[in-house]
Amino acid sequence: MKDKVEKTPAEWREELTPEQYRVLREKGTERAFTGEYNDHEEEGVYRCAACGQPLFSSETKYHSGSGWPSFYAPVDPDKVDTKRDRSLFMTRTEVLCDRCGSHLGHVFDDGPEPTGLRYCINSVALDFDPGDVKL
Ligand code: FE
Repeated sequence: MKDKVEKTPAEWREELTPEQYRVLREKGTERAFTGEYNDHEEEGVYRCAACGQPLFSSETKYHSGSGWPSFYAPVDPDKVDTKRDRSLFMTRTEVLCDRCGSHLGHVFDDGPEPTGLRYCINSVALDFDPGDVKL
């Protein structure tokens, strides 16, 4: 059994900053090269900013040059959901937190080995926990 997190829009609005709400709950995107974790290189774990679930680790973070934090894999494939996204006249694959359903970013197939994937994630969707990356 997974402990899913479900909240009403009003509850999310109370907990999140307006920018977090716009990205996480309304599928917004932060402007490229503006996010606090784009160039962040410290060791640690990145959690969902909405529910706290660990999602990505510094071990799979790399510099993609895209302007958003990029990872070639999540800490556990079960912690993220993916969904076809046909907005903005493109077909992309949306990445969501599996626990609370919040929008995190998109995943593309132009990433580095060993997965070939690029998880392109909004900084504002993440909270960073420095330290040991073992979960
Ligand atoms: Fe979450």
